[in-house]
Amino acid sequence: MSKIYDVIVLGAGPAGLTAGLYAGRARLSTLIIEKGQDGGQIAITNEIENYPGAQLEGESGPSLIARMTKQAEKFGTERARDCIKSIELSGDVKKLVGSKGEEYYAKTVILATGAFPRPIGCKNESKFVGKGISFCATCDAAFFEDFEVYVVGGGDAAVEEAMYLTKFARKVTIIHRRDELRAAKSIQEKAFKNEKLHFMWNTVVEEVDGDEILSKMIVKNTKTGELTTIEADEEDGMFGLFGFIGLLPNTALYEGQIDMENGYIRTDDDMHTNIPGVFAAGDLRVKSLRQVVTAAADGAIAAMQAEKYIADLK
Ligand code: NAP
Repeated sequence: MSKIYDVIVLGAGPAGLTAGLYAGRARLSTLIIEKGQDGGQIAITNEIENYPGAQLEGESGPSLIARMTKQAEKFGTERARDCIKSIELSGDVKKLVGSKGEEYYAKTVILATGAFPRPIGCKNESKFVGKGISFCATCDAAFFEDFEVYVVGGGDAAVEEAMYLTKFARKVTIIHRRDELRAAKSIQEKAFKNEKLHFMWNTVVEEVDGDEILSKMIVKNTKTGELTTIEADEEDGMFGLFGFIGLLPNTALYEGQIDMENGYIRTDDDMHTNIPGVFAAGDLRVKSLRQVVTAAADGAIAAMQAEKYIADLK
């Protein structure tokens, strides 16, 4: 059997990196495993203005996460890039198996795999992802320089990312299923002042279409049921459609092993799951506020509880 770590953290978003920082600082042998780039949701967030200590002007998700990564590694936390395919959480030693069969072992595991964007849910959606449909304004805004763009959703993410898109697109229209935004009032105030931002209320996207690239969609009025076809300007030949309608938890890997509610992991206030030695931190947990600051707090608590669990084993 290869090395048995004190702590394996699965996921390198704000929750996982903070768990790594605290576990490393507590001199626990710690490995953070991440399948893609560090940062999770904030890696694709253009501006972070409500994390304490973030730079007041222009703190992007990637710049904040780069500092978090450095800080976690400074305290000796090891890193692995791997996509975990199976996990055994029940024994005293937890086992994780990576995409090429690599095995990882630990006395405790902190699950911090976060959440991913909820699909828009319209007909033909999967055909046009990457061909007009996107879930990341930071990644794809530049492709729509001077084109028309539509944003689905009415929460913080939809409104903030729509404002970001106005820096690139000719016109940005928010399509929201109600006639009132869910986004924080301070975000709404900025949005209503933005002249390039327009609103299509009580509307959902039913179907998307196009010849290779997205150029047509059918939207439905949620009050009257009326269907309207929106087509790209002839000169443009395409438009962008961004989905920001909330998140789904990244927890399929743990299904059947751990106590969950609607796919989110249940924990107590100290991030204990129902399995001894297994903790959960961040957006994948049942909680009322999913923010960078609460994810980081969860990670710190989980690491400290992992330390206590290991001390009690002795
Ligand atoms: P959210 O707050 O859950 O909002 C989702 C939005 O999408 C809502 O307006 C919702 O409509 C709409 N929606 C949900 N399902 C839909 C469907 N099937 N079809 C059409 N519309 C649908 O999600 P979010 O904006 O992605 O934010 C996720 C979390 O990250 C939240 O906790 C948020 O506060 C946080 N966040 C914070 C910031 C910030 O603080 N600056 C920025 C980004 C994200 P209804 O309003 O009708 O339910």
